[in-house]
Parts: sequence; structure tokens; C-alpha cells
Amino acid sequence: MTEPPRPPSVDALARSLTGTGLPHPLLVDVARQAIAAGRPEEAPARAAAAGRALLQPVVNATGVLLHTNLGRAPVPAEEAGTYSNLELDLSDGRRGSRQDRAGPLLARGCGAERALVVNNCAAAVVLVLAALARGRGVVVSRGELVEIGGGFRIPEVLAQSGARLIEVGTTNRTRLADYRGAVEDPAADVALVLKVHPSNYRITGFTEDVEVAALSGLGVPVVADIGSGLLDATAPWLPGGPPSWLAGEPGARQTLAAGAALVTFSGDKLLGGPQAGVIAGGTDLVAACSAHPLARALRPGGLVLAALQRTALAYLHRDHSAIPFWRMATTSVDALRARAETVVAGVPGGRARVVPCTSVTGGGTLPGVEIASAGVAVDGDHAAALRQRDRPVVARVAEGVTVCDLRTVDPGDDAELAATLASLAPAGG
Ligand SMILES: *Cc1c(COP(=O)(O)O)cnc(C)c1O
Repeated sequence: MTEPPRPPSVDALARSLTGTGLPHPLLVDVARQAIAAGRPEEAPARAAAAGRALLQPVVNATGVLLHTNLGRAPVPAEEAGTYSNLELDLSDGRRGSRQDRAGPLLARGCGAERALVVNNCAAAVVLVLAALARGRGVVVSRGELVEIGGGFRIPEVLAQSGARLIEVGTTNRTRLADYRGAVEDPAADVALVLKVHPSNYRITGFTEDVEVAALSGLGVPVVADIGSGLLDATAPWLPGGPPSWLAGEPGARQTLAAGAALVTFSGDKLLGGPQAGVIAGGTDLVAACSAHPLARALRPGGLVLAALQRTALAYLHRDHSAIPFWRMATTSVDALRARAETVVAGVPGGRARVVPCTSVTGGGTLPGVEIASAGVAVDGDHAAALRQRDRPVVARVAEGVTVCDLRTVDPGDDAELAATLASLAPAGG
């Protein structure tokens, strides 16, 4: 009887995978797992899967402009491995503040006296409540006690910040008198009114809510969590003004002008910047947030602040082409169709065709909004094959057809997309 072949040593197997480019300790793990599973021959596939699991650039062909799984707004990264003047005042050589660039530029863009940058909008809301309302009452409409994004629940955030929730009104209707009753109750000790924008849902039908302008007359600060980060509803950075699909979305500038003491918003939704949260408004209230101990724990790093500074400067230059989200969101359907025709011409055998499709903003913004677009369709469900490419492509599949919406694809990726589509196995083959 011949003995079964001895399994290879972990070390030899790991060394045979060096060509994958993964560091040796990870290859040792892969080799060990493959041997333990009794399948050493699967080690290369396991190593490839480990490499693919790492963060890497992907082509977003879903037509979802702010795709949460794909990192929301795309931001150009330009950071060379250099130092920066993050906390240095170059004029006098003294210690400066990392909050002195992106924050003031964004404040300028939305007409606020001052703005503070933290890690995301959830952090912005927590910091505002902790700094301004700890141990005191915060009035919120029952129609706005919502969950936005994964796990950001207004009642829980309020509890974590140490503020006391005072619910007013009903799910579908809240009136100014409801707010006034709470604010004028001395036992309630109201620190502020919190108004939460229904970013990712709509209550329709028999509804009523109260505008910021009316709330600002109640005698306590109104904090408006607008979330999506539309800096100015008149969109002066867009040559054609605001597109029709933006209608009704509150701008930071307009919300402050209407009387909000503070607004909070995300950096990576309609602002089109990196993941960040912004607290903008009056000097005293923003300063109180900056001075709170949590501000240190929630501060962003230099990479984020550099990217946010670039985004803010693009707004002040009124240069939407420097903000990928706005560039993509406002590309004309004609231009997208022309690109789709070029991509289709690069796929031999008539297997691809130009199709009309619809993009969405996504990322928990503008529910129900559809933006006309153009894409390239290929018969068959190729979603998995496209994800496995060296440059993964994430596409949409509906009714057995794979569609690549070109609105969210960088034009520089069109030629590679055509080559990738040409290399797909024919449907049913
Ligand atoms: C998206 C959103 C948040 C959470 O923002 P993050 O930046 O994802 O933390 C909070 N409030 C509103 C109204 C939002 O739309």
C-alpha cells in the first residue's frame, strides 16, 4: 500500500504564494487554513481572495452617486507623503489649530460666522447636544424621531449625549403650538429645539411640520440637522443653477438665514467631500462645541481636512468640475449617451447596447429622486464576474440584463470598461 502524499509544509506553501504581493504573515495564515481544510491546492485562490478583500479602487457602474458601500462621495486623493502645517501658524511659527482652514472656508460658503469639522454628521449631532444640552431638555417632533443611516437613531443619540428628550406632536403632524408648549414649560428646562431633516424618508399625505423660521421665534436656539450637506440651495457653483431634482432640499445657507442657530451636515453626501461632519453657525455656540472635551475625541485627521479644504475651495471658486459628485450629477444625458456609444463600439460582436437608465443620489439623500442617464447593457447576470476583475466593476442587474450606468463611471475608465465587457463570457455560455 502506498502512503497518501504528505501535505506540504505551511512555510513552503506560503513561500510559493509570494507572487501575490501579500505580506508573508498573511500568506502563512492562508497556507495554514488551506492545509487545515485538507485542500492545499486551494491556497492560491484563498490568497487571491484575501488580496481582493483589501480596500482598492472600484468602478461604480451602479448609477448610485453616493453609494454607501462604495464610500459615498468620490474624492480625489492628492496627498504626497509630506508634512503639512496642520497645527502650525506659518506666519509666526506658533502652534495653530487644525480647525482654521476647512471650517472657516465652509462657513464662508454657507454664510455662517464659524464652523467646526468633526468625523461625521453623527458626531456633529452628538457634540452639539453634549456641549449645549447636557442634563437639559431638547425638544424634537415625533415625526423626526428617526433612524438615518445604519444605527443613527435620534432618541439614542440624544440619550448618549446626556440630554433629555422632550417629544412633541405626532408622527404625521406637529404644530408650532406643540413646540411652544414644551419650550414655555419651566420644568422642562429646554436648552434647544432640534429639527431633523427627513433625509432618507418622506411622510406624505395628512402631514404638517414647522419651518425653522417659525421655530426660531420661540426664544431658544434651533439646531437644524440638515444631514445631506447642500451648502446653498441656489447652487451658485453650478453653471445652470440648481437641477430640478434638488427642489425642496434645505441648504445650509438658507437654513441659517431662516434663523437656525446651528446647522449640522455630512461631508460626504451632497457636499461631495470626504467623510466628515460640520457644525456651522454663530461664533459662541460653535466655540462652546469646540471647547467641549468630546471635540478632541471627534476631531478629523490631516488627510480628511486636506480633502475637505480642497472641496471647500472648489465651492468658493464656484468650480463644480473640481467636485466629482457635482460633475457626475450634472453631466448631460447626451454626453453620457455619446460615451455609451463609444463603449459599445469597443465591445465586439454586437453583445453590448446603449440603454436609457436612471441614476439616484443615494447615500440616504433625496429619496425618490431619479436622474435620467445612459448606460451600456449586456445580456446575462455578470455582476459576480465584474466584481472579480483586477479593477472591480460594480454594476446593476435587472431581469437578466447587466447595466453599467455611465453617470457614476469616471470617463477615464470608459476604455477599460469596454475591454472588461468584451472579455465577459457570453450569456448562457
Ligand atoms: C446622514 C445623516 C446623518 C448621519 O450622517 P453621517 O455623516 O453618516 O454620520 C445625520 N443626520 C441626518 C439628517 C442625515 O441625513
